[in-house]
Amino acid sequence: MDVVIIGAGPSGLLLAHYLLEKGAGRFRISLNDAREDPRITIKRPPTARRYSIGISMRGRMALKGVDGLWEAIKARGVEIDHMNIFVMGRMIERPPANKGGQPVMTDRTSLCAAMLELLVQRHGKSGLLSLHFLHKCTGVDLDKRIVTFSDVQEHEDIHNGGLKMPGNKAPEKPSQSVATYDLLVGADGVRSVVRAAFMQHLRSFDYEQRDLGSELIIANIPPMPAVPRDVVVMIGGKKGGLGGLMLPSALSPDGETSMCLILKWADGARPAEWFAQKSAADAKRFLERTFPWLQIPEEAAGSLLTQRPSKSMQIKCSQYHDSDGAAVIMGDAAHASGPSIGQGVNTAFGDAAALASLLLKMGDPSELPAVLERFSALRVLEGHALVDLSESQNPASSATGTLNSVRVIIQGLLRRFFPKWFAGPIIAMAAGLKPLTEIYAIHKAAVDSVLEGNRKHRTALLERRHREKLQGLEALLPNGTASGHVAADPGLKKTA
Ligand SMILES: Cc1cc2nc3c(=O)[nH]c(=O)nc-3n(C[C@H](O)[C@H](O)[C@H](O)COP(=O)(O)OP(=O)(O)OC[C@H]3O[C@@H](n4cnc5c(N)ncnc54)[C@H](O)[C@@H]3O)c2cc1C
Repeated sequence: MDVVIIGAGPSGLLLAHYLLEKGAGRFRISLNDAREDPRITIKRPPTARRYSIGISMRGRMALKGVDGLWEAIKARGVEIDHMNIFVMGRMIERPPANKGGQPVMTDRTSLCAAMLELLVQRHGKSGLLSLHFLHKCTGVDLDKRIVTFSDVQEHEDIHNGGLKMPGNKAPEKPSQSVATYDLLVGADGVRSVVRAAFMQHLRSFDYEQRDLGSELIIANIPPMPAVPRDVVVMIGGKKGGLGGLMLPSALSPDGETSMCLILKWADGARPAEWFAQKSAADAKRFLERTFPWLQIPEEAAGSLLTQRPSKSMQIKCSQYHDSDGAAVIMGDAAHASGPSIGQGVNTAFGDAAALASLLLKMGDPSELPAVLERFSALRVLEGHALVDLSESQNPASSATGTLNSVRVIIQGLLRRFFPKWFAGPIIAMAAGLKPLTEIYAIHKAAVDSVLEGNRKHRTALLERRHREKLQGLEALLPNGTASGHVAADPGLKKTA
């Protein structure tokens, strides 16, 4: 069976491992990615786009199905000892956690490089694996089962955020190519081309995409004396200030630790003081004043200041398969969420393992439509739970936020004294193996109340922005032109 995988990220790579390792030669894999080969990227000076991710029990379980894969990844990561919280100007030290169940943090590119190295080492000469980097999928014809690709030019290398990287061997002119498939797998992340083709092809396909509004900037910095190398720091930000996370990372191929500083702010709460900084030196002084434990090189502070912030996107789909088109989506292509419960990659690994298990059990290719349908049935609700649980950790209004924090503290205390009677907080439970759908069911009332609060907050924010825009346009344009029918409706005009 010819399997074309779009996206050689964590989920695409894991699926390739499973099918080649356990498929007894039944699957020919073509793995395609728009970015450059991560084995090359890890040898370059790290760019601001590289970030650290945590692999917890859920992801580990999926990886352990392939002999030696988890060990290869772990060797490139840092096992977390505990988490500190920096809030209201104070670093609160928390006791070390039990060893064994803690996430292993690793840089996403290093993770992909480790997975790819092992894949090539084991199957590179099998004749069953073909790899194509800087090879962007530009279109999918689900009726004809054809995929179109274009070679990516140096300046388009999306991994490096459009930066021109010396040494990329991209052709002078982009060349187009096509591939046919028996099974197409969209593991192509949040802006999935395969998912876009589902939209065109499937009447039954419902899809919800939301810009979460929050923005983040990233710097990779050397470890500093005040913070142990195996500790995650959660940085609580006050409204209009910088919050975020500092995570251990392993940027270099030999596993040397660095720290990945992720600073973020919520929708409508751009930190004015941060944006008032004029130079790299100012930015460094500002950050070290705000976070007294932080030591940041001036170059990194400057890069934070000038970087275009990334936005988090939330995606939910009603199904992950198209039986007629013999295609499936998984990972961030199927369910993207903010990083707040740290389960995006772990759920993506779970998808890949579940799909592989169904495909490996398939007796005959004629069973493929039923296999794909079963995949959706198994994974869609888990994807929805991921998105909802993640959003529940980000209450938009301060009232809901305070209520939520109080709830988490009380829950933690009750859990400590009556562990059999009370469930732990969502983040702690998500780091274990319980399905996310079950965690959602346990915390349903709290999750739904935050989601509802966020929905109201979003609607109010949207209305306010539209009113402000209209007012701005009215001031610029001749009488009544901007507001159009609004001006003709005295009721609406009054609220504006
Ligand atoms: C700052 C940050 C921190 C995070 N922290 C965590 C964490 O601690 N724990 C956790 O579990 N998750 C975390 N996540 C989420 C995690 O990174 C994603 O869930 C995970 O990478 C998804 O894997 P994937 O393989 O589905 O997709 P991706 O990692 O997005 O990979 C998709 C691949 O497809 C390629 N691609 C895209 N379009 C095309 C195209 N048209 N043609 C060819 N190739 C294409 C891309 O180049 C990419 O390599 C974090 C995310 C961010 C941004």
